[in-house]
Amino acid sequence: PLILAVETSCDETSAAVVRGGREILSNVISSQAAIHKRFGGVVPEVASRRHVENVTRVIEEALEQAQVTLQDVSAIAVTYGPGLVGALLVGIAAAKAIAYACSIPLIGVQHIAGHIYANVLSDGVEPPLLALVVSGGHTEIVYMQSHDHFEFLGRTRDDAVGEAYDKVARAMGLEYPGGPILDRLAQEGDPNAIEFPRAWLEEGSFDFSFSGLKSAVLNALHNAEQRGDVLRKEDVATGFQASVVDVLVEKTVGAVKKTGVKKVVVAGGVAANQGLRTRLTARAAEEGFRVTFPPLSLCTDNAAMIAAAAFPLYARGEFHGLELNAIANLSITDWMNGKRIQF
Ligand code: ATP
Ligand code: MG
Ligand code: FE
Repeated sequence: PLILAVETSCDETSAAVVRGGREILSNVISSQAAIHKRFGGVVPEVASRRHVENVTRVIEEALEQAQVTLQDVSAIAVTYGPGLVGALLVGIAAAKAIAYACSIPLIGVQHIAGHIYANVLSDGVEPPLLALVVSGGHTEIVYMQSHDHFEFLGRTRDDAVGEAYDKVARAMGLEYPGGPILDRLAQEGDPNAIEFPRAWLEEGSFDFSFSGLKSAVLNALHNAEQRGDVLRKEDVATGFQASVVDVLVEKTVGAVKKTGVKKVVVAGGVAANQGLRTRLTARAAEEGFRVTFPPLSLCTDNAAMIAAAAFPLYARGEFHGLELNAIANLSITDWMNGKRIQF
């Protein structure tokens, strides 16, 4: 079966055609990053307007690249949360129109589940597993017991890790989104130049906190400026990334030990981070668990991952009605507990 998926939760307009939940026939991503760069972040009204302008063309292009027509599609999947409501609604309206016109089932997908299922497209998502979710808006460790059972082991109490990257980068005068730029700079700094604190929180906690680290970096930059000194950007990036990666990796190792679940998938934009990939892969080998990352091209927002996440629901025959609505703060557990119909 072919699933056509649409993703418009933030600033990427994307559509994809995926066969059998894992074979990508097309994955068209139209990024608005160049537009939002001028504002140093995503402007919701601008994002919605751009999605409206792009969504039809992106869907047509996805079908064309896959060399299929709407008649070949078995179901249409769409992200309905979390994200910017105005942006989500554009994708939802497009998906509903297609579901209605073609009489095919509609499958609403939670965006973070999509990030987790991006791993299907590299290795496999065979529960039970732990998902380390590290994206622009979320940082959490999720225990996935089966395809329809998720539990939170911990989550951030303040900033998400991608958000911390982008804010620190902005303070350093780097472009939006700053995560990939900081990651590159971090490869070149002196690891002994600057040491930033690690937020371990209480013993045994799997929660995260990145606002203290962010403040520490901003203070260091500010203090240097007061002294008439300039810190090397590479050294700041290296110190910052070392703190982030240390906490993410050791909490994940702790969660593996506590639960005995020996498979970890990493999900979200920060899964592209080279420092995280290297360190977590090395620690997994030492501790004897398996870790997988999505292919680099599927770490940030895309519709192929949404089709992959929709597939288990398609296989179970669980669909949404045309009353599907955007939910700005939809959690992965709400998604699983939400009402679905048999088609
Ligand atoms: P969410 O998925 O939580 O709704 P989002 O969709 O905006 O948020 P993603 O697309 O998952 O976020 O990821 C974008 C984030 O990933 C940005 O914050 C970006 O800076 C960060 N990012 C991308 N590549 C890297 C990298 N190599 N190192 C660190 N951060 C990165
Ligand atoms: Mg984006
Ligand atoms: Fe995302």
